[in-house]
Amino acid sequence: AYDFLKSHSAVDSVEFAVRMMEDNTLFNAGTGAMMQSDGIQRMDACIIDGYRNKGGAVAQISGVKNPIEVARMVMEKTQHCLIVGEEAQKFAYLNGIGRYVTVTKESIERWLKIKEDTHYGTVGAVAIDMDGKIAAGISTGGWATSLPGRVGDVPIIGGGTYANEQVGVSCTGHGEKISKAILAGAV
Ligand code: ASP
Repeated sequence: AYDFLKSHSAVDSVEFAVRMMEDNTLFNAGTGAMMQSDGIQRMDACIIDGYRNKGGAVAQISGVKNPIEVARMVMEKTQHCLIVGEEAQKFAYLNGIGRYVTVTKESIERWLKIKEDTHYGTVGAVAIDMDGKIAAGISTGGWATSLPGRVGDVPIIGGGTYANEQVGVSCTGHGEKISKAILAGAV
């Protein structure tokens, strides 16, 4: 990701870094992401371009490989900040994103024994490029014990992630507490 940043913008690099982590089953994002308490994966992601003061996010999306890519499309192709659920999935497919199953054998096993193993890594990235422009991104499968449909801090701009011309922030931890503190935006 560092080499990528040498020749790409902060926002492209953040998308690239988060995408790599979404594709790695070690993390709770994208492929292998955690399911909610009903056993269904619903993922949240957000990307913010601090220089352009733009952000895009998706919440409760499934059936796509890289939620961060869809968040980027929301930022680049719409006038909105956040699209949720099935409509986010349809938006992705309409924009050429392929269908993808992010559930893995390991994610099912992990979900089944979640009472012992409550939490593993949401992913985030912050980058500053050669022009000094800053971007931030974040992606998660959320919490295994959450109610279906629960949305935490991740897709809320200023909640779990934020960027402007001076700073970039990506948080991890208890989404409800992060949201109440407006943690990323409070910097
Ligand atoms: N903040 C995430 C959420 O509550 C979880 C995490 O950071 O691991 O959805």
